[in-house]
Amino acid sequence: MTDYPHLLAPLDLGHTTLKNRILMGSMHTGLEETKDWDRVAEFYAARARGGVGLMVTGGMAPNREGGVFPGAAGLFTDQDIANHRIVTDRVHEAGGKIAMQILHAGRYAYGPECVSASPIKSPISPFSPKELDEDGIQKQISDIATAAARARDAGYDGVEVMGSEGYFINQFLVTHTNKRTDRWGGSYENRMRLPIEVVKRARAAAGDDFIIIYRLSMIDLVPNGSTFDEVVTLAREIEKAGASIINTGIGWHEARVPTIATSVPRAAFAWVTKKLMGHVGIPVVTSNRINTPEVAEDVLATGCADMVSMARPLLADPDFALKAMAGRSDRIAPCIACNQACLDHTFSGKISSCLVNPRACFETKLVIEPASNPKSVAVVGAGPAGLSAALTAADRGHQVTLFDRAARIGGQLNLARQIPGKEEFHGLVDWYEVMVADAGIDLRLNTEVSADGLAGFDEVVIATGVIPRDPGIPGQNRANVVSYIDVLTGKAKAGKTVAVIGAGGIGFDVSEFLVHEGHSPTTDIPHWMREWGVADPADIRGGLAAEGPRPDAPARQVTLLQRKAERPGKRLGKTTGWIHRAALKMKNVKMIGGVNYERIDDAGLHISFGEGRENPVVIPAETVVLCAGQLSERSLADALADRGVSVHVIGGADVAAELDAKRAIDQGTRLAAAL
Ligand code: FAD
Ligand code: NAP
Ligand code: SF4
Repeated sequence: MTDYPHLLAPLDLGHTTLKNRILMGSMHTGLEETKDWDRVAEFYAARARGGVGLMVTGGMAPNREGGVFPGAAGLFTDQDIANHRIVTDRVHEAGGKIAMQILHAGRYAYGPECVSASPIKSPISPFSPKELDEDGIQKQISDIATAAARARDAGYDGVEVMGSEGYFINQFLVTHTNKRTDRWGGSYENRMRLPIEVVKRARAAAGDDFIIIYRLSMIDLVPNGSTFDEVVTLAREIEKAGASIINTGIGWHEARVPTIATSVPRAAFAWVTKKLMGHVGIPVVTSNRINTPEVAEDVLATGCADMVSMARPLLADPDFALKAMAGRSDRIAPCIACNQACLDHTFSGKISSCLVNPRACFETKLVIEPASNPKSVAVVGAGPAGLSAALTAADRGHQVTLFDRAARIGGQLNLARQIPGKEEFHGLVDWYEVMVADAGIDLRLNTEVSADGLAGFDEVVIATGVIPRDPGIPGQNRANVVSYIDVLTGKAKAGKTVAVIGAGGIGFDVSEFLVHEGHSPTTDIPHWMREWGVADPADIRGGLAAEGPRPDAPARQVTLLQRKAERPGKRLGKTTGWIHRAALKMKNVKMIGGVNYERIDDAGLHISFGEGRENPVVIPAETVVLCAGQLSERSLADALADRGVSVHVIGGADVAAELDAKRAIDQGTRLAAAL
């Protein structure tokens, strides 16, 4: 008997059966562009061995003009087909099934050759698309159908036609981007002609015994998006045209509503997919912020969908399905939806990986092998750097003792998880606790380690983290000036007006903490929808509330400051920075850059501007919170060095600048892989 009877039930598609209801959603990892096909194959084969029901590849371009960027991968030549065969063969040997996503970017293509329904530039691209004529449209349909046939030749079990997220096909569906007056524009019947033709022709080209998934935008989250009646009409026509499965797309890329970030509630959009259930006969897949077997099971058991798409969770743990089957979901490395190593990498032109699993997409490069010479290893500091080093070392057969002076493992992750919208960090610390116990690591909490306490170990790893930087502002010793640690641990209570010194990741997070009171909208879907202005597309086109976002009043008046003259928050995550900035703006947080901190006194925080220290202003503040960056905690490492003891120093203890959990975990894992 399983805890997840709906999730682990097979799914009969007629000509083939999927072993469970877990779909690995499409992710652009950048692996195909490396042309290292063994590496690509191992990435997918690892997930196939991990028991996932069906995988969808990253988007493959059907032609040059439709590629997301110039040179985007696709099945253009016979050599391409042979290369993809390496992947599909390896997946099939591992007992898996894999479909290739066909992604035509339309006006989102980052190049001057881009094409669309109408010549309307998107707000997220510098290129205006060329309006297609009849021949041009026929060519695009034919190229997509050919891509489906070539995918079959390459051994894929199916294709996913990308019809959502504001890409090419989606651009034909709504008047927001389709201003045509011919048979491809105007009425809805005309606007949906393109997706129907695409699916019909792909089915004809690829044959009946082939999976065709259509990814359908169920809530566009852009002005003049589809109504839900149109969504249902399209879904029915797509079924008639020959699709095997309908997958859910949520929001266009240009939408100003977060859809997958960590502050989005789990399964926040399953209710949209549920509305389609019963309107079509083919299986319907739901997606977005589903990251545990429990959430997935609940979504299926409550009739929201027939299958669940999880993409990033399969980066975090390729064995997600196997662990669910074994009843060990507590061992599944959780995707915390941070985007830091996956989407942020994609948008920076880097290969994707995963903050919690640095082996993701590096399966052939970062190999963890049993140690030839098992040693006794001391790790000091159970933050993410020390934890990853300890777990990897133990995994390799070393005898590991892990020390921390705190009463709980996790280091600064225990501060991160206090932030409203960062609740996923709870699960990450919980997971580390289970893994440390399972690995047989000798864990010594409440133990401040000194140089004397480390004699007798073969290897010593120092992962003591960071200490807050002292900004040296006159008046900072007053009782109302506190550090972020005091605020987040509850040691200090902030007044109603607060000045936050330092607008880095921690300054933003602390501001978020200060403006909220009561429960976090991330744990309450209706509350979160109201805050971001999400409505039912059955009531309003595109699902954007007519009243716009309606956030609760801020719990405090917060002013967030930095010395740099640039826009505060500019250096936050590539795909999430805008969310942090928008969230604080909605709470009336004043963000001021280019300041000098003069002093703190009874009136508040005195600042001035520019090299000439001009325009002095007082920011009234009952409380001033210092978030002025961090320095390495190296006292133990230095004491050991003074004694001539050779140690490994990792994480914040090594370099504090631009430290984050991604770097800490990566460094800890790599060090232990080589010990
Ligand atoms: P730490 O996490 O600082 O751990 C060091 C550990 O060493 C501590 O547990 C400490 O008790 C222990 N220690 C120190 N000296 C001794 C000693 N002598 N004996 C025994 N134990 C000792 N990063 C992200 O990537 N994404 C985020 O979203 C994010 N959000 C954050 C939000 C907040 C509010 C904060 C404060 C940080 C956030 N970070 C985030 C940063 C991230 O938490 C840190 O980069 C990371 O924890 C650093 O890891 P570390 O292991 O080097 O050090
Ligand atoms: P940070 O990002 O380096 O920001 C430090 C802030 O302090 C900056 O705004 C800096 O701006 C200011 N500052 C630096 N020296 C100062 C001084 N002497 N006096 C006054 N102000 C000073 O560091 P952090 O906010 O402490 O975060 C630590 C790490 O945790 C970061 O590297 C970050 O990546 C990570 N983190 C990540 C996330 C995430 O969501 N990914 C969230 C939280 C933290 P000025 O110099 O312009 O004043
Ligand atoms: Fe999930 Fe973050 Fe890993 Fe991406 S980097 S898969 S969002 S945990």
